[in-house]
Amino acid sequence: MPDFVLTEEQRMVRDLARDFAQNEIAPRAAYHDQTGEFPREICEKAFRTGLLNPGLPEDLGGAGMSCFEECLIAEELAVACSGIGTAMMVNTLATAPLLVGASDEQKRKWLAPMTEKLQFAAYAVTEPDAGSDVMGIKTTARKVGEEYVINGQKMWISGAGVADWFFVLAYTKKEAGIRGMSAFVVPADAEGVSIGKKEDNMGQRASDTRGITFSEVKVPVENRIGAEGKGWMLAMAAFDHTRPPVAAAAVGVGRAAMEHAIRYSKERRAFGVAIHRHQAVAFMIADMAMGLDAARLLVWRAAWTYDQGKKNSYEAASAKAFAADTGMRVCTDAVQIYGGYGFNKEYPVEKLMRDAKIFQIYEGTSQIQRIIVSKGIISQTR
Ligand SMILES: Cc1cc2nc3c(=O)[nH]c(=O)nc-3n(C[C@H](O)[C@H](O)[C@H](O)COP(=O)(O)OP(=O)(O)OC[C@H]3O[C@@H](n4cnc5c(N)ncnc54)[C@H](O)[C@@H]3O)c2cc1C
Repeated sequence: MPDFVLTEEQRMVRDLARDFAQNEIAPRAAYHDQTGEFPREICEKAFRTGLLNPGLPEDLGGAGMSCFEECLIAEELAVACSGIGTAMMVNTLATAPLLVGASDEQKRKWLAPMTEKLQFAAYAVTEPDAGSDVMGIKTTARKVGEEYVINGQKMWISGAGVADWFFVLAYTKKEAGIRGMSAFVVPADAEGVSIGKKEDNMGQRASDTRGITFSEVKVPVENRIGAEGKGWMLAMAAFDHTRPPVAAAAVGVGRAAMEHAIRYSKERRAFGVAIHRHQAVAFMIADMAMGLDAARLLVWRAAWTYDQGKKNSYEAASAKAFAADTGMRVCTDAVQIYGGYGFNKEYPVEKLMRDAKIFQIYEGTSQIQRIIVSKGIISQTR
């Protein structure tokens, strides 16, 4: 039977994240939004609290939390600031393909140290000319003796400026298409790696997004994750794990916007009454609540399916698109409810609207999620 009640342990995880978010993140959110400074201090504290890398398995020294628990954490962090939340969660995306395809030795080498001290890793797949169309990447890895030589450029890589290593997708055999792609761990300090400037993004400004250039970068064969030709599968499999928490974060941003809007609608008066007395405003709030509840249920289903060890690409894509689109709509409507004040930087909702937009773009756009959902439902329906 479906059960919508959190267990004692899940409540504890959520409350830990909520307290951390409200006490450590919320007071610093405006500062990091204004300056774009990476929230290293907050990440240090999160690491000590056990909120960074929650999904790394216990046998590697991690907390071994479920995807469902990662979603509970992601929503709470994003209520306080989704930019700082993203900065804290980038490791989940970079480590996810290794959890799927790395050998035990590779896991001990690259993942275990992340449970011992604060370290960052970044997922480097997108390129200047290829985002949705992953097959269009141009980065190559040429095998020379016991090494691969990597050349190419990556773009929009979250956490690139702070990462200790990158998960990199490259062609080892271009003519084989997606079956010619392989995955590598590339240390950030390897010779020939250059990290670009921090991008001046519209929202989630605390998160560090940059381009990376690989110029004749040599990595040993041991740094290849999985067999040659398995890179695309590993890069895509990561999303089954990470899209539910990303979708949960979109719910979190929307929840913050809705709560601000409700409070404001009780204070602001127009035509002799608090504005929530106007049905048009009340119904906007109703749509926010219904949308966020529905999005959260999709997120929970996607995470639960993943935790059952079942294939969840359909559920994860559905949750990601719906939560991202809902989060964006809720934030836009929150600005509307604030009227002119909503458009002003001294009030909280314009930041939420800027932050919400990226959920419809990164980890696969809302259009790409709809391709996955439509293919899934059409193929299942007779
Ligand atoms: C802040 C930020 C952080 C990011 N972090 C990372 C990261 O850590 N690692 C990483 O590898 N990448 C990252 N990305 C890249 C992100 O995943 C891509 O931007 C995204 O996948 C879209 O790719 P694109 O920008 O090349 O857009 P394009 O693929 O060029 O798409 C442009 C538009 O066309 C639409 N479109 C494209 N193809 C289709 C289709 N077949 N059907 C319908 N519509 C289509 C898209 O939905 C979009 O609206 C990040 C991006 C940003 C902005």
